[in-house]
Order: sequence, then C-alpha cells, then structure tokens
Amino acid sequence: MPVPKRKTSKSRRDKRSANKGLKVKSIAVCQSCQAPVVPHKVCSECGKYKGVKVLRTKTDRMHERGQVRRELEAKRQGQDVASETAVVPEGAKNE
Ligand SMILES: [Zn+2]
Repeated sequence: MPVPKRKTSKSRRDKRSANKGLKVKSIAVCQSCQAPVVPHKVCSECGKYKGVKVLRTKTDRMHERGQVRRELEAKRQGQDVASETAVVPEGAKNE
C-alpha cells in the first residue's frame, strides 16, 4: 500500500480545504412559471417537473381552502335562510 512520503502540513491541508466550500451552484429556470429552480428538482413555486404537475404547493392548498371556505359559507347562508324561514312560523305559532 502506497504511503505519503511526507506529512501534509497544516498550511497545505488548510489551503486545499479552503476551496472545498466554494462552488457556484447552477440555477435553471422553470419551464412553466420561469422561477429560478435547482436543476433536476421539482419547482417549489408551481409544483411542476418538466411541465408535469407532481407536487401540491402551498398556493394550491390555499386555493383549495378558499374553495372549501366558499362552499361552507354558501351552505351556512343556505342553512341560515332555511332556519330563519323555519323560525318565523314557529314564533308565529308560539304567539
Ligand atoms: Zn415553476
């Protein structure tokens, strides 16, 4: 087994390791929303990879919640209208 002839000095070792952390990371652009993305990763903005939707993003969930809220409000309003119409005859009967 080959063995180094001399010990690597602290200076030489530190000069070598000084360059290890410095790397320019490549940044790609999302095909669908033009946001900066890491290459070969799903876009965190729109949840698409190569133009195909593969991930539910936070904005998607917000939209879904908004739809759910609107549906619930519509149901409540319908119930309120129904309860008001139901209450009025009951009050008339009690009086
Ligand atoms: Zn995108």
